[in-house]
Amino acid sequence: ATESEEKDLVIIGGGVAGYVAAIKAGQEGLKVTCIEKRGTLGGTCLNVGCIPSKALLNNSHLYHQILHDTKNRGIEVGDVKINLEQLMKSKDTAVSGLTKGVEFLFKKNNVEYIKGTASFAGEHEITVNLTEGGEKTVVGKNIIIATGSEATPFPGLEIDEKRIITSTGAIALTKVPESMVVIGGGIIGLEMGSVWSRLGSKVTVVEFLGQIGGPGMDAEVAKAAQKVLKKQGIDFKLSTKVMGGDASGEKVKLQVEAAKGGKEETLDADVVLVAIGRRPYTAGLGLENIGLETDDKGRLVIDSEYRTKIPHIRVIGDCTFGPMLAHKAEEEGVAVVEYIKKGYGHVNYGAIPSVMYTHPEVAWVGQNEQEVKASGVKYKVGNFPFTANSRAKTNLDTEGFVKIIADAETDRILGVHIIGASAGELIAEGTLAIEYGASSEDVGRTSHAHPTLSEAFKEAAMATYGKAIHF
Ligand code: FAD
Ligand code: NAD
Repeated sequence: ATESEEKDLVIIGGGVAGYVAAIKAGQEGLKVTCIEKRGTLGGTCLNVGCIPSKALLNNSHLYHQILHDTKNRGIEVGDVKINLEQLMKSKDTAVSGLTKGVEFLFKKNNVEYIKGTASFAGEHEITVNLTEGGEKTVVGKNIIIATGSEATPFPGLEIDEKRIITSTGAIALTKVPESMVVIGGGIIGLEMGSVWSRLGSKVTVVEFLGQIGGPGMDAEVAKAAQKVLKKQGIDFKLSTKVMGGDASGEKVKLQVEAAKGGKEETLDADVVLVAIGRRPYTAGLGLENIGLETDDKGRLVIDSEYRTKIPHIRVIGDCTFGPMLAHKAEEEGVAVVEYIKKGYGHVNYGAIPSVMYTHPEVAWVGQNEQEVKASGVKYKVGNFPFTANSRAKTNLDTEGFVKIIADAETDRILGVHIIGASAGELIAEGTLAIEYGASSEDVGRTSHAHPTLSEAFKEAAMATYGKAIHF
């Protein structure tokens, strides 16, 4: 094995958390190395997560709209077909463009990129099993672990990524399955369920809880989302648990049962998507060699400055606490380097938006109504429907609403919840409002361009402290 010079910082994992930290470190003048085993940079998000899923969501939406939503607009179309191979190729183009872009940014910011699998040999030494063959020892004054997460498996259902799939299989199917059962009605289940439903699969979502959307979604919004997705053809079995499955026959058979026990049923499917959450990934890191342990959920334990009990080893992104989101990982990538270089950094975990990229989109930031209620704070709610928004009307896309929750005494905005076209873009304004501690009146008295969807945000704010004009 060869040994390299000692670096100021060595980063394990070139996902969003790791690559952002690497670029930031380069910008700060640190000597930095990033080790990634995948062969490309960008991690789950760029390679098999955010980016490919959004490419498929966008194009499948376009197809679905051409099929079902053109005539009333005065657009007559002829023979519309899906070319799945080309659909996948266009997704791959987006992915490779972005992953190569990160590689370019590494060069631009003097980040050393090593392709290989890293494991701890000591508290400062990392052994890299090089992708091209051989080994190398890398020594770091500081080390960041950013090894991400993996799909949580479903006991008894073996993933082959063809018939029993995770999201990774769901972005790469070579044929539109006739039927698909999705286990888990969280973000992945609903996004990937939407893609294949739009392309022609009969999709059934089985969710253990009484509400779709996964953790964090406001109950009123989740109900509205379920209603529209149902209208688009997705079936839901809520408060239902999967007991087991059998993939030996032509169809996969799943035994499901009411969550509280009782009614049993067997569901047949050509493809089963397992989407019951993700878990931290730290396998093969050699944590035992340096005495680092994970908690009961597999997360590496850190303090408020991302330090493990070995202070020069820090952890960011999906493999530690917090929501498993790319933009959360990105914020941590910047903050952790600031801690290393300057001794201070900051991430506001109360102002991290969530977006589900279905159509309509669902987006939120801050607390949902269930959480505010449970906290005991007196609150008020302003609601504004897109049916009353002029731009939504011109777009013939009026599904959904904006809901703002504010403190009844101070008028400070506590949560913003949007279901509607472009909710994922609109939520940026809500995030900024929460970041700056805005009151609903601050937003309601801010001029918003007409006609735009953002006026629904302003009017929901007006409805929180007074009355909306257009509803
Ligand atoms: P990862 O992106 O998982 O990166 C970790 C990297 O470390 C991997 O590339 C891995 O190969 C590497 N690695 C692991 N161990 C080693 C080792 N020992 N040596 C070398 N390298 C190693 N989030 C959003 O915010 N918006 C979205 O729209 C969104 N969509 C998603 C869609 C899907 C289908 C999925 C699965 C996830 C999605 N996410 C989304 C979540 C997002 O992908 C993650 O939150 C994000 O990728 C976390 O970044 P990370 O750097 O912590 O981990
Ligand atoms: P999730 O936690 O969002 O949802 C999982 C769902 O599965 C929950 O509703 C849960 O109640 C249900 N569930 C769990 N066990 C079950 C069982 N045995 N039977 C039936 N239902 C069960 O997880 P996910 O959708 O797998 O996504 C994983 C992670 O990836 C999340 O943290 C998510 O934030 C992230 N992600 C984000 C985006 C985005 O930001 N647009 C997109 C995809 C993934």
